[in-house]
Parts: sequence; C-alpha cells; structure tokens
Amino acid sequence: MDNILVVGSMNMDLVVNTNRVPDKGETIIGKSFEQVPGGKGANQAAAVGKLGGRVSFVSACGKDSFGDDLLSSLQDKGVDTSSVFTLDDNTGIAAITVEEDGDNRIIVVQGANASLSPEMIDQVEGKIKEAAYLLLQMEIPLATVIHTIELADFYQTRVILDPAPAQGLPREIYSKIDYLLPNSGELALLLEEYDLRDEEDKIEQLLDWGVKNILITKGSEGVTLYHKGSQQVYPTLKVKAVDTTAAGDTFAGALAFGLQKGWDIDRCISFGNRAAAISVTRPGAQSSIPSFAEVENMKG
Ligand code: ADP
Repeated sequence: MDNILVVGSMNMDLVVNTNRVPDKGETIIGKSFEQVPGGKGANQAAAVGKLGGRVSFVSACGKDSFGDDLLSSLQDKGVDTSSVFTLDDNTGIAAITVEEDGDNRIIVVQGANASLSPEMIDQVEGKIKEAAYLLLQMEIPLATVIHTIELADFYQTRVILDPAPAQGLPREIYSKIDYLLPNSGELALLLEEYDLRDEEDKIEQLLDWGVKNILITKGSEGVTLYHKGSQQVYPTLKVKAVDTTAAGDTFAGALAFGLQKGWDIDRCISFGNRAAAISVTRPGAQSSIPSFAEVENMKG
C-alpha cells in the first residue's frame, strides 16, 4: 500500500540544437542532435524512481527501438514497467528544436499514447487499488484520465493531477482530486469556459468544487499552496537555469515521493522545489532529474 502509480505518456524526445529554425522550404545545417527519454508520465515516474520511491508505471509504447530504450531507461531508475502496454503502433515522439537563445519549438506525435484507453486501465485496476497515490498528467486521452481518477476514488487511492496539457474537466471530477498542480496558464485553460477573470477567483472555484489542495507552480518563484481559507508561498532557490524541460515533472514526482514517505506538506513542497531547481541546471528531461542524496545535499 505504500507505492505510487503513475499513469501517463512516454515519448522519445528528438532534440535538434540549431542557430535558427529554417524558413518554409529551406534546409539548414543544425548544430547537434540528442535523443532523450521524455513524456510527462515517464518523466514523473522516473523522478519518483530516481529519488528512491516505489513506483509502477502504466503507459503504452510501440514495438520499436524508441519503446525499448524508454523502457530500459525507466527500469534503470527502478520503475516497475510491467504494466506498460506494447502496441502495434509507433512509440510517441516529440520533435524539438532548441535555438541559440534557448527558445524551443515542439511537435508531439502521440503514437501509442493516444491508444491508452479506459478498457486498458480496467486491465490494471488491481494496481490502482494497491497504490497509496495515483499520479497523472493529461498527455493521454481525457476519457482515460477521468476513468482512472474515478477508479482511484472508488479504491480511496489519493490522486495527484498535473493538468498538462490542460483542457476543461467535468466539474464532478474535482472533488476526487487531492493535489492539483497547475501553472498559471494551465489554471486558466482548466476554467476557460467559465467567466472568471482573476487567478484568485479561479482557485476559489476549484476549491469550491472540492479540490483539496491546489499547488500553483511559478517557475523561478517557486510554488503557492492553496487550501480552503488559506494560502502559503514557498519560494525556491536561485539557480542558473540551463534547461527548464521537466522542471514541473521533477516537482510532481518529488512531491509524490514525499507524500508517500508520510512527510508533511511543507517538507514535501520544499523538497519538490529543491529537486526541480536542480533539474533546471541540467539539460534534457529524464537526464536532468536528481537523486535523493543530491536533493538532500542541495544548499539553501
Ligand atoms: P511547468 O514546467 O509545469 O511549467 P514551472 O515552470 O512552474 O512548471 O516549474 C515547476 C517548478 O520547477 C517550479 O515550481 C520550481 O520549483 C521549479 N523551477 C522552474 N523553473 C525554475 C527556475 N528558473 N529556477 C528554480 N526553480 C525552477
């Protein structure tokens, strides 16, 4: 009963570093190429695993070399991948260009991630029942996200949702969420269809609908936690940011890790901030995630 279940996407990130992006019809020579394991679900599972938590991952990949590489990268970090479905489809990829000034452009081709269905989740229902925490993002079909949260609610497994990429959710689902982790843009997208202007009004609305804790991640400013009737700011460390890819995923994985350990919320958020701060000082997605010792030894 003390493990974390992550249900979500896995992608191979195909990263091209370039001085500039080509114009329409133009071919240019890039600077370098890297293939880095990514996908929000896989990143968050990898974060829990690298920190030393007990974590299982439910996802879908293809029978191809990207799928094989992603699975072995997760296994190296201690993630149980026995519930990853291998389908007759391509493994998801993200084609990413990074320009000299750090600007990036990303095209995701979902591949097998788009086929992770509610019926497939039913096949691993026992894992949801056994888990202490369910950690989800929104890079898989919305119907699957909703169905998985409903099953977790049924089995009283606590739910942590990182609503990225964000879209509106049915109102009834919010009372089943223990920890919601949007950034400001995602908060706006969740409530796009409602006429709520101020961020505070949006947060109030979600708390009224029953979300128990809302953690707004604010990049270099850290995190603000909202419960009914109270809020608290958790500033983070000043670091030299090299690549913020997977900062949010590292934060989510580290938060889940702390909750699973039974730490209080202050300690969980501070630990998550430190882990994410380290991740932004390193390039890549899963390659940037720190170990438990690195987070503990981080000064500040
Ligand atoms: P997302 O990546 O989901 O958009 P944020 O950019 O808010 O989320 O980052 C998530 C968390 O990562 C932040 O709350 C913070 O802990 C950490 N973080 C992100 N950017 C920085 C930064 N420049 N310096 C230090 N920590 C950062």
